[in-house]
Formats: sequence, C-alpha cells, structure tokens
Amino acid sequence: ISCQRDDIQLECELGQGICGVVSRARLKQCGRQMAVKVMRRTGNNAEENKRVIMDLEVVTKCHDCRHIVRCFGVFIFPSEVWVCMELMATCLDRLMRHAGALPERILGKIVVPILKALHYLKERHNIIHRDVKPSNMLLSESGRVKLCDFGISGLLEDSRAKTRTAGCTAYLSPERITLAAPYDIRSDVWSLGISLVELATGRHPLADCATEMEMLTRIVDEPPPQLPLTGFTDHFREFVARCLTKDVSLRPKYQRLLGHDFIKYHEQTQTDLADWLAEVRIRCPGLASPSGSTGGGSSSGSSGAGS
Ligand code: ADP
Ligand code: MG
Repeated sequence: ISCQRDDIQLECELGQGICGVVSRARLKQCGRQMAVKVMRRTGNNAEENKRVIMDLEVVTKCHDCRHIVRCFGVFIFPSEVWVCMELMATCLDRLMRHAGALPERILGKIVVPILKALHYLKERHNIIHRDVKPSNMLLSESGRVKLCDFGISGLLEDSRAKTRTAGCTAYLSPERITLAAPYDIRSDVWSLGISLVELATGRHPLADCATEMEMLTRIVDEPPPQLPLTGFTDHFREFVARCLTKDVSLRPKYQRLLGHDFIKYHEQTQTDLADWLAEVRIRCPGLASPSGSTGGGSSSGSSGAGS
C-alpha cells in the first residue's frame, strides 16, 4: 500500500528504548493497524544517525526472514524518522514483568526462532545483532516470535566486529568487557543465555547489582549464571550453560546450538504460543492486547538491571 504521513493515525505508546518511541498506529482509510517507531533526529548527531540508518538497513533487507519483525515502509522527515512495522503483541521483557517467569516449554518455543533469526543475520548478511535481550524479542498475537531493534547491529569484517559499540551492560559478555580485541557472534550467544536465565527465573541474574561497575566486575570475575538445579530439564540447563560459557573460544556458535537436543525437541513440540498468551492475559489484565480499545498503555524500556 502507498500512504502518506497524514494517512497514519498514531494511537497509544507500545514501548520505548534508546532510539525512540514505538506507538500503535492505524491507517485512516482501511483501519489496518501497525507499529510505528518514531526516531528523533535532534541535529547533526552522527552517532544517532548511524543508529537510525543501521536499524533501517537491517529491517528493510531482512524481508525474507520469518523471524525478524517485518517493515512496511519508512518516512524520513527533517526531525524524525518513522519506521512502519507489523504490530506485535508485546516484547518478552514486558511479558515477563506482567506474567512472571516463563515456563520452560514456552521458552523452548521462543528460543528456536530467535536463534534462527540470529543465525540468518550472520549467514545471509554477515551482521551481528549486539543488543540481544528480552525487550528486543517480540511475540505476536498469533504466537509468532521475532527479533527486532537493529540500531547498534554491525557488519562483521573478517567475521569479527571491529568497533565496540556497547549494548546493554546487563547482557554484555565477559570478552566484550575485558578484551580490546574484536568480538564475534558468540557475544550475542552469551546475551541470549542471560536473557534465558532472566526469562526462566523472572529475574535478571545481576538484578541486585548496585552500580554498573559492580555489574561489570561480576560478569568478569564470577562463574557464569546458571539455571536453578530444580524445575528445569537437563537439556535446558545444559543449553543455557553452553550459551554462558565464559571462555569465548569454547562457546558454541549458532550452527552447533541449532543442533542441540533442547532446540531439536522444541522444533517439534506442538506448544501454541497464541493460546498461551491468551491464557496469560486472563491472569494478567495489565497485559492488554495492543489492538484492543483499552490500549497497551504501559511502556517498556530496557530491563530492570541497568542499561
Ligand atoms: P529501541 O532501539 O528504542 O530499543 P525497539 O525497536 O527495541 O527500539 O523498540 C522499543 C520497544 O517498543 C520494544 O522493546 C517493544 O516493547 C516495543 N516494540 C517495538 N517494535 C514493536 C512492534 N513491531 N510491535 C509492538 N511493539 C513493539
Ligand atoms: Mg530495544
């Protein structure tokens, strides 16, 4: 469809991050709903422009991946950039804050598409995400899981990123803190592991850190976080432990993780995430449907543990 800014009615806010605010929007003529990310351009800020361009580049060239949020089009104004995307029900960060810890059978179903999206980015476009965390994983009304937010993603040179643009501290891998050397996709594997521990327990493993410095120190000095001994299958605990291998040279890459028993098992299970989301909504009325007339309301920023 072709449309202009005036054809789009911005409705309630769905969430916000560093790049801007994401709102639910409606096409006036047909009533079709979507999500619009409004990124402010405050001036000649090179860093900000880079983020906007990177985010756009990735979402527009990854049309053929079912596990990456779909982009319908973009408006570039002097002071703002609008990215029009498919409307998703919620990010996993907000979902967890309402519903508490997510059950293993749900996480298994969620991690498969996220892993495939990350693998696709690397294999097809040689891109590393660099900001893997629950607020950048989205769940749709129909139960699809997709990766979003490519503002700080980077192209890999020689399969290792040269720049060290920081993601969210709470999800940083040890080597991104200590090494001056370039890092590779295995830093995202670590962030995925941290995200899984957080989602499975309902709490970020470093949530009790008082300062950013304490967080950095603990990531580097302490043994890696792990899933509690009870309440999870050995396959799940082992998968998470692999992702959270402190020595980056021993940490598996996507190909190997995709062959892990935990993934193989959940690729086949029949778990319906749409049904589960509907059940959660009954339990947690605060988690309103983004298309409902009551509006999503609550905004979701970065996760509790620092940013
Ligand atoms: P930022 O770079 O500002 O973090 P994101 O792309 O991560 O931007 O979006 C911020 C938040 O907005 C997300 O965490 C999520 O809660 C919400 N959001 C983003 N895209 C969508 C979408 N397509 N549908 C519904 N909510 C979305
Ligand atoms: Mg984000």
